[in-house]
Formats: sequence, structure tokens, C-alpha cells
Amino acid sequence: MPELPEVETTLRAIKSFEQYSVESIKVYNPNLRWKIDKNINKKIGGTKIRKIFRRAKYIIFDLNSYQLIVHLGMSGTLRIADIKDNFFKKHDHVELIFKKNKLIYNDPRRFGSIHVTESYDKHFLISKLGPEPLSKDFSKTYLYEKTRKSNTSIKNFIMNQSHVVGIGNIYASEILFKSSVDPRRKAKTISLIECEKITENSKIILQKAIQVGGTTLKDFYSAEGSAGYFKIQLSVYDREDQACVNCKNLITKIILNQRAAYFCNKCQG
Ligand SMILES: [Zn+2]
Repeated sequence: MPELPEVETTLRAIKSFEQYSVESIKVYNPNLRWKIDKNINKKIGGTKIRKIFRRAKYIIFDLNSYQLIVHLGMSGTLRIADIKDNFFKKHDHVELIFKKNKLIYNDPRRFGSIHVTESYDKHFLISKLGPEPLSKDFSKTYLYEKTRKSNTSIKNFIMNQSHVVGIGNIYASEILFKSSVDPRRKAKTISLIECEKITENSKIILQKAIQVGGTTLKDFYSAEGSAGYFKIQLSVYDREDQACVNCKNLITKIILNQRAAYFCNKCQG
């Protein structure tokens, strides 16, 4: 699944479409996770994109009267193609047509979505989201206060989008390893100092992944554009029974809230 850094990189790749007018929007298959509004072309065709930005893992196109909320789901990508390029890939579901280019939404598993709305921040997908992890709002005091009554594991807690957005399964394991916090601990037992480590390491790890992502930007300009995982150095994730990078103890894998969690029981004990 594309995580926040991958979505941020997609956003940076398509930022240049700001101020362009959408000539029309072609829907080949409306059956994404939610069915695409059949009036989408009437609503946004011919209107100018004022701004493209990100909220959590949603890419938002702000047009004159409407906003487009795009989610890449498990396997979605947006790629840029030349208007004359008639190369059609399997699972190309939607095309935003501009004068010289088009933006193509491809999604093999169709867990992604495209919504048209008049006020995105009141939209059901957006309205209940927690703060952005890279913002000042995601602070040690925020995390500390928010966790005080929570009996869930800290890993599950930081993956809950109503607490903080954009921390997926891979990054959650990495953040807790770097913070020396056992992923199984109840959220309410995490100290203020540990909350500080967790919030700071979240920012460091996500920023690093975004930087690495920047080097893959050129992929978005080819018909083969793909959004795989960025090759950041992972310290624990997917390293079961391999030596811990700090202490050489073997990394443990467990299933926590139905998701794989990796940790070092010495460093995170
Ligand atoms: Zn260790």
C-alpha cells in the first residue's frame, strides 16, 4: 500500500498541474472502492486547478467550485502521459485530460477512490482525521494526553488515523524501534519522554523516506510510472530472525492487531 511518503512524492510529481485547466475527465471504470460520481465531468470539466495538496494519504485537487479527493488505495498510481500518447494500460480507470498532458489513474485492485465534493474538510473521508505527523500539532504533549486512557498497543495507537495520519505498518515498526519502545505496550503506559521520542522519530523517518522518494520522481513521467516502496534502510521491518542493527539480538516478528510487528526484545524491552 502506498504510505504517506509515496503519496507525498506523487503529489510533488503532479504539483506542476496547478493553474492548468482540466479540459475533461474520462471515466473508463467508475467502480472503485466507492462508485465515481457520474456527473464528475459536468462538475469539473473546463475548470482550473487552483491548488493540489495532500491531507493524510488523500491527494486533493482544489478546483473552482469543487474539490477532487483522490486516494490510491492498495495499488493505485497516478501517472503523467503526453496527450498524444495512446498507450493504454490494463487497469487505467480514469483520465484527467489537460491541453498537453493527461493524468491517468491506474488501480489493479480498485481499493482506491475518487470523490468530488464542495468542501473537502467536511467530507466523511477527511473530517475525522488526526493531525499530520510532520506538523507541529503532532507533539509530545498531544501524544501524551491522547494516550492516557488508551488500552490498545502503542503500535496500533499510532496507526489509527484519528490519532495521527499517515503512519502505516512498516513505518510504525521502524518508529518504535528507533524510540526503544516495545510495540505491544499499552498506549497509556508510554511516558512523556517516550512520546517525545516517538513524535520526533516519526518526523525523521517519514522525512527521510520523502527525500528518498524524490529520487524516483522521474518515474512519474514515463508510461511505466509505478509507486513501489521506497528503498529506505529498514532497521526491523521484515527482518525476522536477523541480527538487530544495535545489539545483534535476533529480531522478533509477532502478529499484533492482525498486522505483523517487528521488534528487538532487548533494545525495546
Ligand atoms: Zn537490539
